[in-house]
This record gives sequence, C-alpha cells and structure tokens, in this order.
Amino acid sequence: MAEKTGAYGKQENASGRDGKWDMEVFKERAKERDKEAFDKAKEHEEAALKGKKAPRTKPDLPKPTKLLEQRTHDLGIDNNLNKTMVVNNPGGRGAGQPGFYCDLCKRVSKDSIAYLSHVNGKTHLRRLGQTTQVARSTLDQVRAKIAFLRAQTSQESESKRFNFEKRLAEVTRLEDQRREAEKQKIRVEKEQKREKELKAKMGVQDEGIAGMMGFGGFGSRKIR
Ligand SMILES: [Zn+2]
Repeated sequence: MAEKTGAYGKQENASGRDGKWDMEVFKERAKERDKEAFDKAKEHEEAALKGKKAPRTKPDLPKPTKLLEQRTHDLGIDNNLNKTMVVNNPGGRGAGQPGFYCDLCKRVSKDSIAYLSHVNGKTHLRRLGQTTQVARSTLDQVRAKIAFLRAQTSQESESKRFNFEKRLAEVTRLEDQRREAEKQKIRVEKEQKREKELKAKMGVQDEGIAGMMGFGGFGSRKIR
C-alpha cells in the first residue's frame, strides 16, 4: 500500500479519516491475532493433558549487563498535574491513551503509582540491561559522601548565622532611629515651652510692637 499523507501532514493509517478501510491490513492483523491465540490454546491444552499448570508466557528479556543504576532524568510524573488533556487515542494501543506510557516496554500504566512501580520493576530494569542488585560502595565512596554531607551542613549553618547577624543589625538600626526621633520631639517641646514663657513675660503690648517691627517672636520659625 502506498503511503498517504493527510491534509495536516499526518500519515494516514488503515482506518484513515477518509472513511476508507484497508481490508488487507485488517485481515493480516486478524490472522496474526488468531495464530497467537491458537498457539497459546494449544500449549494450554498440552499442559492440561499432562496434568500440569498452563505455562506462563514470559516476555523475551535481554540478559542484564550491569547493576542497578540511579535514574539520571526526571520521570516527569507531575508534569500534567491539574491539567485537562485531550485523549488522542481512546481505547487504542500505544501512546496517547489516558495514563502513563512506557516506550521501552510498550505498556500503559493507569496512574503515577503504577507507572513508578513499573519503572522500578524487574521487567523494565531488565529491558534497560540492569539487574535489581545494587553495587556495593567502596570505602572511598563512603568517605567522599560523608565529607560532602559535612560540607553541606556547615555551609547551611554558616548561611543561617549570616542571616541572624543581618537581622540583628537591622533591629539595632531601627532602635537607634526611634531614640533619635524621641530626642528630637523632646527638644522641640522644650523650645516651644521656653518661647511661651518669654512671651508671657514681655506681655501682649510688647508683642504687638514686635509684630509691627517685623518679627513675631523669638525662637526659630521652623518650629511654629
Ligand atoms: Zn517499561
């Protein structure tokens, strides 16, 4: 069958949107499925005749070549948290179904917990070529880790101490400001009181004269 490209550049499959169905492709798929089912049924029947349990179908897994390794990338489990998604492939096979799809194993997990346990599971790890055994750390590695943790802790406490000193300086500064403002207030009040007393001594008439002469009183103008 020649490959067709849709209006949006998408490859059209056998059940393309144009409504035409490629009967040959579907016949082929149906035949394959039938053959698989037939083989399985035959195995089960043979086992039953021998009085044995039906054999479990094991997936073909490669032999592990390395020990368990730490994941280096983020699984992105919460990437789509609280989002509404359009399901592109409802009821189909492969990616685009609701849930988490593992490309390596070609299977869908219905939720993040199932996906995480699949990714940490034996089958998935075997496909990555890993066993479930963890490498034993050497003495040097342990020492390096302890040194790293110690450095981290001391750095943290250092930054905490620095913050404390900064805050203390800020509090002291504010306190000084408050005291200065209080002193200023007392000074102003004293001056006003002194002026009042002086005016009372000189009497009202004198003040009138003083006003005529161009100055209203004693003391600074700023304060009044
Ligand atoms: Zn997998």
